[in-house]
This record gives sequence, C-alpha cells and structure tokens, in this order.
Amino acid sequence: MTEDADNYDYIVTGAGSAGCAVAGRLSESGRFRVLLLEAGPRDTNPWIHIPLGYTKNYTNPKVNWMFESEPEPNLNNRTLYQPRGKVLGGTSSINGTVYMRGTAADYDDWRQRGCEGWGWDNVLPFFKKAQNQERGASELHGTGGPLHVTNVPHEWPLAKACVEAAMQTGIPYNPDFNGPKQEGTGF
Ligand SMILES: Cc1cc2nc3c(=O)[nH]c(=O)nc-3n(C[C@H](O)[C@H](O)[C@H](O)COP(=O)(O)OP(=O)(O)OC[C@H]3O[C@@H](n4cnc5c(N)ncnc54)[C@H](O)[C@@H]3O)c2cc1C
Repeated sequence: MTEDADNYDYIVTGAGSAGCAVAGRLSESGRFRVLLLEAGPRDTNPWIHIPLGYTKNYTNPKVNWMFESEPEPNLNNRTLYQPRGKVLGGTSSINGTVYMRGTAADYDDWRQRGCEGWGWDNVLPFFKKAQNQERGASELHGTGGPLHVTNVPHEWPLAKACVEAAMQTGIPYNPDFNGPKQEGTGF
C-alpha cells in the first residue's frame, strides 16, 4: 500500500462501456489517480471473449444482473427480461459486439430538441477518435483508437443466402451500416 492509496482525483462507479471509457481517458495522461469501482467480477469467463458467446452469458447470474422490467401496460402488463452486464466491461462484456451507430438524423434530432453539443457534427469526431476501423480512415471512420472495428471474417453460406434473399425483395445491399446510409441489407 502506498501512502496515498486512499486518495484519488476521480472515482468512477461502474466499469461498463461508459465507465471504462471515462476511466481510461482520465488515466491515460498519467496525471490523475483514478479509482474504477465495479460490482461484478473480472472478465475471465471465456464466453465473454468468444464472439456470439453472449448467448451463454445472456442468463448467467455470475456476470449478469438479469433484471426484469416493471409490468408494461402496453404489453398486457407482461414483464420483460432485461439482461445487463455485472462484470468488468459491463454490458459490453455480454453483448453481441455489433458496431452500429445511430444515423446522423438521430443525433441532429437530439440537438433540435435542445441537447446542445450532441448533434452529428459534434459526436462524429469522438466516434472517429474512439475507433480503429480495419478498412482504414475515411470521412466517417477513424483509425488508431482503442475500439477495434472489423469486418465479419466469414460470409457463411446461410448468411449469404439471407442477404441475397433480402436483395431479391428489393432491399439494397449495404456494405457499411455506419456509412452515409444505414438502410439496406448486409453482413
Ligand atoms: C444482450 C445484449 C446485447 C447487446 N448487443 C449490442 C451490440 O451488439 N452492439 C452494441 O453496440 N450494443 C449492444 N448492446 C447494448 C450495449 O451493450 C449497452 O448499451 C452498453 O454496454 C451500456 O453501457 P453502459 O456503460 O451505459 O452500462 P453498462 O455497460 O451496463 O455498465 C454499467 C456497469 O456498472 C456496474 N454497476 C452497477 N451498479 C453498480 C454499483 N452500485 N457499484 C459498482 N458498479 C456498479 C455494472 O455491474 C456494470 O458493469 C447489447 C445489450 C444487451 C443486453
């Protein structure tokens, strides 16, 4: 234990997607002592690190709060299961690892409703700064950030057939759901 073990410049509660990003950014300069508190355990469960392993952790109480919603009046008062990560990495440790942002119009709508600083022009530089897009940098993508964004490595025949079937109904192919348009079908 060091002399100032109990002194921190910042205390971040919850080591989920947001908490880890905040604690990481605050501590990267080395100037601040940051304490990151997490209710769950370390992220050693192997299914956290295997793509689509989230189906295993979807109902695993060791890494999941497993909330249940209040009765929903619009669903005939049914309650809905609400998985949420209780582990280092939070819900990003038990999620589907799909990287898909909102559309520009979504963020501009926030700004128009009074959320200054959250329009598309405001948030895009931060999306790019966070990203390490394997396709390279572009107007809408960044490289060199901590968040690796990769193509789906295999186009399985069944997935290909689904995409082709969608195209046959007239839905356009979209090679990038974070590109200029989100509409379409793709991998
Ligand atoms: C099944 C599922 C699949 C998903 N798939 C995707 C996907 O493919 N792509 C995508 O972009 N998004 C996906 N999401 C959504 C995304 O994962 C979440 O929106 C995001 O992780 C939420 O981040 P957060 O920082 O707000 O909260 P969380 O990541 O949930 O972090 C909150 C953290 O706080 C901790 N905590 C809570 N209370 C306390 C306390 N009192 N003291 C200490 N720690 C505490 C929790 O344990 C948790 O670690 C998915 C979500 C789910 C449930």
